[in-house]
Amino acid sequence: MNVSTQKVRQLFSTMSFGVRSLLGEILDVLLPRVCPFCRRATPNGQDPFCTSCTESFKSFRPPFCTVCGRPVPASFHGSESLVCTTCLHCPRPPCPDFRVRCVGAYEGNLREAILRLKYGRDLLLGPALGTWMACRFRVFFPQDSFDLLLPVPLHRARLRQREFNQSVLLGRPLAHSLRLPLELKAVLRIRDTPSQSLYRRGDRRRNLNGAFRVASPERIRDRSVLLIDDVFTTGATAAALATLLLDAGATGVSVFCLARTVDPTPPQPDSTGTGPNDTEAP
Ligand SMILES: [Zn+2]
Ligand SMILES: [Zn+2]
Repeated sequence: MNVSTQKVRQLFSTMSFGVRSLLGEILDVLLPRVCPFCRRATPNGQDPFCTSCTESFKSFRPPFCTVCGRPVPASFHGSESLVCTTCLHCPRPPCPDFRVRCVGAYEGNLREAILRLKYGRDLLLGPALGTWMACRFRVFFPQDSFDLLLPVPLHRARLRQREFNQSVLLGRPLAHSLRLPLELKAVLRIRDTPSQSLYRRGDRRRNLNGAFRVASPERIRDRSVLLIDDVFTTGATAAALATLLLDAGATGVSVFCLARTVDPTPPQPDSTGTGPNDTEAP
């Protein structure tokens, strides 16, 4: 891919979704289509990445723990009440109707793609990864319906510094494909909390106390909300937002993340299905 083609594609990625949809068809005819990760020419198809990059991102496959969404061994497929041991042995009861699903593991090429998007300003990757999530949405939420998508908000100081919210870039193609509104004003991040990675697990929840505020409760009340985020680590951010949204009258909150950090020890399924508990994803 030559530099000018890359520039045109990059400019294209910053446009609104409607304009992009129209121009995209023209652009696909005029310019060779390239994989936004490896930059090699790739045939037109539903997936935005080439076959080899798509495979390297390693999307999780079902069955998943019904609470936290971690994949569990295939031999447990078909169990309605499948709960992994991490969830089962958590002393903290989960929020009602708060489920988490992550598309892949935060490692290898998927991790590199997220880092290139967030810190390398490789803005082609935002819509491409969002489209990749959208293509896999029904694997993770086979029968679920939502009223709106809510990307995890950035504080305005962070937004000024980065100039984009990666969760919004991921959410746009998903909102378009599900024909759902992307809610960007109902919830504000009112405290610019230090990075969660600086805190130990127990301190991460305290770090987020009072970090968000519902600015327009009428846009949340009686709605089923799907939160969108790039990386799911301990679940503290999602838990803080879900609690706030449920308090504001949301009928349910689920979380859809691009990637989940890798567990030090993979969870084992508990076949008794006696009930969910989770420290990571309440
Ligand atoms: Zn590729
Ligand atoms: Zn679990």
